[in-house]
Amino acid sequence: MTAPVTTRSSADLIRAEEPVVAHNYHPLPVVVARAEGTWVEDVEGRRYLDMLAGYSALNFGHRHPALIEAAHRQLDRLTLTSRAFHNDRLAEFAERLAALTGLDMVLPMNTGAEAVESGIKVARKWAYEVKGVPADKATIVVAAENFHGRTTTIVSFSTDETARQGFGPFTPGFRIVPYNDLAALEAAVDETTAAVLLEPIQGEAGVVIPDNGYLAGVRELTRRKGCLFIADEIQSGLGRTGRTLAVEHEGVVPDMLLLGKALGGGIVPVSAVVARRDVLGVLRPGEHGSTFGGNPLSAAVGTAVVELLETGEFQRRAAELGVVLRGGLSALLGKGVVGFRARGLWAGVDIDPEVGTGREIGERLLREGVLVKDTHGSTIRLAPPLTITSEELEAALEALQKVLA
Ligand SMILES: *Cc1c(COP(=O)(O)O)cnc(C)c1O
Repeated sequence: MTAPVTTRSSADLIRAEEPVVAHNYHPLPVVVARAEGTWVEDVEGRRYLDMLAGYSALNFGHRHPALIEAAHRQLDRLTLTSRAFHNDRLAEFAERLAALTGLDMVLPMNTGAEAVESGIKVARKWAYEVKGVPADKATIVVAAENFHGRTTTIVSFSTDETARQGFGPFTPGFRIVPYNDLAALEAAVDETTAAVLLEPIQGEAGVVIPDNGYLAGVRELTRRKGCLFIADEIQSGLGRTGRTLAVEHEGVVPDMLLLGKALGGGIVPVSAVVARRDVLGVLRPGEHGSTFGGNPLSAAVGTAVVELLETGEFQRRAAELGVVLRGGLSALLGKGVVGFRARGLWAGVDIDPEVGTGREIGERLLREGVLVKDTHGSTIRLAPPLTITSEELEAALEALQKVLA
């Protein structure tokens, strides 16, 4: 391992953040200094198994050799041009990402929220130019308990009061329906509807998996009503659920796909709107843009990510190890776990409130050398790197059993 870049202790660094870093997060008290694969190491050299993987931004683990090599190679040649000029990496990235997802065209952006914002703009433009919705009347139907990011427009259609309180006025044009309810969706979609925007699995809500048939039903409904189906796969996509995309579990191809997180390989922020040509083709020069979107470093890393997914190895691992994860969690039912939802290497685990809050379980797991994140009070989320071994996964499940006992 390389020499430490700081001589300050974890406790000192945590204290030092307090007055100078905005308090928009409440991190667990661990200060990570280096990482490799499924393991991170803190300032004092303690090692932890990473069972969160950067909210799925680290699907391939920390510093996957192929991704680090692609980044190094690109750093030595060209990092940024802006889209005022072409660069020699963007075409291949877009070609391969489109091929991987079965769609035609890519709009490269950086963060997930930017991909969502961009998708909303494209859907509205499509509604006015192709569908013929009267100017400024387009609506987008979304689901309750959604998480699509943190910008002003996105929190406008959040149902999480903490995410909204104090941030109005909000962007109009959104209708909120209960998730996993096709009848409510049917009632909300009308001739003004540009799109239905959904997470195929609601991640931040606690890994909420809709009933079998829901996503296929959304696909049928949106096709019949003549509006777009936008799948936000920023967290569910790119191998996490045992398929490249979570919508594949129901054989669904959306009109527009939003990707992010793992697309940047845990190295740089890379996101994308991927869609059919008749949808994304509505954008013309000057109507949308991003200084960093599609930069050669991002495109090189993104291409290396797509290359890893083309092998199918990570999807297969997620599916196979998902069986181990479900088995381990089933064994904890009634022993501190009151319920769980899991698909692939992704689970939301509801903790018996008698045993502790999600936060407390996270703190106890930290002391056992396992990193997780709580959500919604009593739920913890498990989403390890897809490179995790079955032994490491078993060890994490044993640690969970221990802290629940
Ligand atoms: C994380 C996430 C986003 C936002 O991504 P950022 O990169 O944090 O802006 C959007 N949608 C979903 C489903 C997410 O999980």
